This record gives sequence, structure tokens and C-alpha cells, in this order.
Amino acid sequence: ADEATLDPWGSSTIADYRKLFEQFGIEEFDEVLPEVPNPHYLMRRGVIFGHRDYRPVAEAMRNDDPFAALSGFMPTGDPHIGHKLVFDEIIWHQQQGGDAYALIADLEAHSARGLSWDEIDEHATDYILSLLALGFDPDEGTLYRQSDNREVQDLAFELGAEANFSELQAIYDFDGETDVSHMQSVVTQMADILYPQLDGPKPTVIPVGPDQDPHMRLARDLAARMRFFGVTEAFASFEADAVERTLLRQAYDAREEYAEDVDRPRCGEAADWLRDHQPAPADARESVVAKLDEAGKEPLRPRIRFLDRNATDGAFEALIEAIDGEKRVYDEHIDTFDLDYAEAEELARQVELDNGGYGFQPPSSIYHRFMTGLTGGKMSSSIPASHISLLDDPEDGYDKVKSATTGGRSTAEEQREKGGKADECPVYELYAYLLSGDDDEFAKEVYDECVGGERLCGGCKEQAAELMAEFLEDHQEKREEWEDKLDELDIDLDS
Ligand code: SF4
Repeated sequence: ADEATLDPWGSSTIADYRKLFEQFGIEEFDEVLPEVPNPHYLMRRGVIFGHRDYRPVAEAMRNDDPFAALSGFMPTGDPHIGHKLVFDEIIWHQQQGGDAYALIADLEAHSARGLSWDEIDEHATDYILSLLALGFDPDEGTLYRQSDNREVQDLAFELGAEANFSELQAIYDFDGETDVSHMQSVVTQMADILYPQLDGPKPTVIPVGPDQDPHMRLARDLAARMRFFGVTEAFASFEADAVERTLLRQAYDAREEYAEDVDRPRCGEAADWLRDHQPAPADARESVVAKLDEAGKEPLRPRIRFLDRNATDGAFEALIEAIDGEKRVYDEHIDTFDLDYAEAEELARQVELDNGGYGFQPPSSIYHRFMTGLTGGKMSSSIPASHISLLDDPEDGYDKVKSATTGGRSTAEEQREKGGKADECPVYELYAYLLSGDDDEFAKEVYDECVGGERLCGGCKEQAAELMAEFLEDHQEKREEWEDKLDELDIDLDS
């Protein structure tokens, strides 16, 4: 997969998940699985195959500390069984004690996919009803629509000041024709991702398909850029050599002198002043960042950029405060260097919060496999036979499963002899992703019987089709119950 195949608005298939691990630093979920209490069946069965930085979330779960899970849905059509994976992931995190958030990404649907507001209104409620029917608790969780959420809009604006066009161009392949609203929808999405941390930093997981990874990389980067502190926590986290310590000391002395001696210069002057006084410390910062990079840590950058723009007096004051705060941390630990990275980060975050900053933790993500379409190829909202909508009539669901492609052999005889190819079978996926529910034994039985040649496709599909019809019937009953209660809930889903 080259960079272009990870297009969050495209329809490409990720042919080789493995490359994601190497190219983009997504880690295998198996490695973190033992740290997760009561892992969800999608985790146990490898449907959730990758993660970025999920450990803090698992740790919060184990320690009963606050954490959050959030996902956005673009209401481009009916919710289908592929969306159910994400609904399940959000609901499961809620049941594990997390703050759960689900949002309707209407701005993104409008700007990136060109949906009209009427179309969006039509589908938005359908997503919410399915989410509720599958077990989301609206009293404990948060549901919102992007365009209605003022806090998200404000945060998006702030985040937008940290991103620029060349960067979006590099990440998303934007070009001169990309409209401004599309770019605005990107920063809005970044704000969604960080929204759970507005009332305080906490580990936050975003369950996504691998095609959404560019958003995660940008969100993690922006979270880091909103930090006041960078050098201190980085520095405290490894054994800096004597030269680096000296350079850093110079940097702090220079900044202190700056804060004391320069009587609120205009920002252009301030930037010049820093450039003149901090040539060596800039090198020190680079070497710190390089070391962090080597150690696989996110480099966190201090907000010197404040001074590169026409910042207001208020922004300037904030910077001075930040310098003071950062220096306090530094002074306490310069001689000891006895903090590990997490401790140093926590300390720096606290100082940042004390100074009116956000203290965002870089958001984590988990990645699930795409479901194969029932007709082979990718499951797609625009090809009705390829997917089962959560709104499909149970009989239609039954029929779709009955006419699905299988991993079966051309004759029953050959199947008995060689066994079926469950790993390539969309019907087996239905069992593993949905129909077996929490029952691992059942999923395993289907698999073993298939590859062992004991199971033939006709009967296997019949069983799957019946289970699917039952599931749809049950799901739709629950949707109806929620439909009656929707008015009582305080969610306004119309635009
Ligand atoms: Fe797929 Fe079932 Fe046939 Fe195996 S027996 S290939 S799981 S339909």
C-alpha cells in the first residue's frame, strides 16, 4: 500500500495490512491483547488487528481510571453490518467504564462527499437508532452532530491555527482544487477526536478502519502541537549528555532573560530576539527530538511558533507563562533526571493545565479489518447486494446470505476431501464478525468443520441466513422501541 491507497474518502481496498505495520507504525493488536481486561470478541478473533498507542487505554481500564472512546459516522446511506463493528467497539468501551461519544459527521458528509442536508437528515437518525438498539447508553454517553456542537467548532478553529495547507496536501493529497470547506471539515474532525479531552486529559481511543489512519496521524500531531511543553518532558525522560544539558540550560537562561528584559516587544522583534539568542539551544532541541524519534516517542514541540506570527499581547503573555511553567519543571528535575517518560509527561501536563492549556494526550486508535462484500470485493454502501443493511427486511437479509459468494470448492466431493477455504469466505466472516456473537466455541466450530471438510456450503449458508434474519428482526424491534423514546432523549438530530 503506498500513501495514496490510504485515502479516507476513497474506496480503495487495503490489500496488505502488513505493510501498514511497517510503513505507518501501526502495531499489531495481538501484542497489547494480554493487557486488555475482558477483550471484546472482535479483539480475540483478530478482526481488530492493529492499534496505535492503545496501552494507556488498556491501563486506564485496568485501573478504573477515566478514558474515552469516540467515533463519527458519515450518514452517506443506511447503516450496515460493517458499521456495526464500530458501533460494537464504542459500546464495548462504554461498558468497560469509558466515556463514550458518537457523532454524526454531517459537515464532513456535506463537504467531502457532497451530500445535501436533506440526505444527511434522512440518515442521521438511522445511525443513532442502530447504535442505541445495539446497546449504547445515551444517559452515560454523548451523542452529537458536528454542526451543532459549538465547543467542537471553537476547538476546530484553534487547531486550524496549528495546521497549514502544505501539510494537509501532504497527508491527504489535497490540491489547488480542494475546497476550503473540505479543509475545514478536516480540522473539525480533529476537534471531534480531541473533544473528549476538553474537560481534562484522558486516554481516548478512536476505533477506525485502516483507511482512516491519516486522520489519526494528523490528530496525534496536532494534539502534540497544542502542548506548551516539549523540551522539558523529553529531556527528563532519557539520559541527556553533558553537552545537551548545557545547551538546554542556556536555552532556559535565554528565555528567562527574554521574559525579564524585553518589555513586551512586538512579536516580530520577539522572534528576532529569540533567533539571535538561541542558536545553540535550537540544535539542542533538534537533538532531543532526534533522540525521541529513535526511542519511538512522539516529539512534542514547544509553542515557539507563537512568536513567529502576529500574536496578540494575550498570546505573548501566555507564552511567558508557559516558559515560567516549563522552567519550574526543568529546575526541579535538571539535576536528577529521575523521571521516566510517563512521569515527566504527567508533570508537564499538570503545569500546562495550571497555565490554562489543554494538556491533550495524543489520541489512540484501534483498526479493524474491512468486511468482504457478500458478492466478493469490498463491502460497499453503494452496492446493495454486497452488504446487509441494518434496515434490510429480515427476509432480504436471509436471501442475500443465501446468494453470497463462498470459499467452497466446486463440488461437494472436493469439499469433503480438501475442506472449504474459510479464510477467503464472506459467509465465514459473517459468523466470525457477527453471527457467533460472544461465542468463540461456535465460531471455531464453524471454522474447523469448514476447513476439515465436514461442513458444506449449502447447509452452512442456510444456518447463517437464518441467524442473520433473526439478528435483523431482533435489531429492528429494538430500533422501534428506541424510536418511540427518541423524543425523550435530549438529542437534536435535524439540521
Ligand atoms: Fe464458507 Fe461455510 Fe462454505 Fe466454509 S462451508 S466455505 S464457511 S460457506
